[in-house]
Amino acid sequence: MKLKVLGSNSSGNCYILENEHEALIIEAGISFSRVRSALELKPSLVVGCLVSHKHGDHARHIEMYAKSGINILASESVFNARPIGLYREMGIVIEPGNDYVLGDFSVSAFTLHHDVPCLGFLIDHPDTGLIAFVTDTCSCDYIIPGLNHIIVECNYSTDILEANIKSGQVDHIRGSRVLLTHMELEACKKTLLLNDLGSVRNIVLAHLSQDNSDAVRFRGEITALTGKNVVVAEKDTEINFKL
Ligand SMILES: [Zn+2]
Ligand SMILES: [Zn+2]
Repeated sequence: MKLKVLGSNSSGNCYILENEHEALIIEAGISFSRVRSALELKPSLVVGCLVSHKHGDHARHIEMYAKSGINILASESVFNARPIGLYREMGIVIEPGNDYVLGDFSVSAFTLHHDVPCLGFLIDHPDTGLIAFVTDTCSCDYIIPGLNHIIVECNYSTDILEANIKSGQVDHIRGSRVLLTHMELEACKKTLLLNDLGSVRNIVLAHLSQDNSDAVRFRGEITALTGKNVVVAEKDTEINFKL
């Protein structure tokens, strides 16, 4: 199984978990034509697409995905904000705490802290073990036993954001929204350290801010903290997600 990153920032998010038999898409913020060309399998072998929340960078293309025959799994608020009209039968409303089976994947959702309802996902597959997917949120205090891979937002650091507000590169209103809705580097560290990382193979840092992050520094600090393989999710990154 590999994780392919098609996009991981505020311009568009989309990830594909794929082996030789099936694929699961996470987020629909990248056009389906790009998904189709990234897939090594026929689109009919995609078992579903999980969508965390209604913002365009995560959900903009759900109607096109549904039209292409992909089941969309998301909370009611996503379908209310972005109706999939004619393809309604492809929409599956999910609730935190329930389990969903998609091919050999089993998925459950949990609530996060954003400015709209937002879900994190726990994804289990025999090839990968247990994967946590956490974005967009200012914090995540769950303790999840037995994790094998973690995909977690690492959006900004306070010092870079403060410098950008001071220089006028980021305005105050936008800066204040970031504080309440996205995960800061130290919050990301806290989220990771709450958990037993003993069986974790990969930590993928996701949704870095274009203005308020430093990929090299963030990767270095998280690597030093955890001793794990840490990868910054960027367009066209591919990561071996085998157990
Ligand atoms: Zn986002
Ligand atoms: Zn968002």
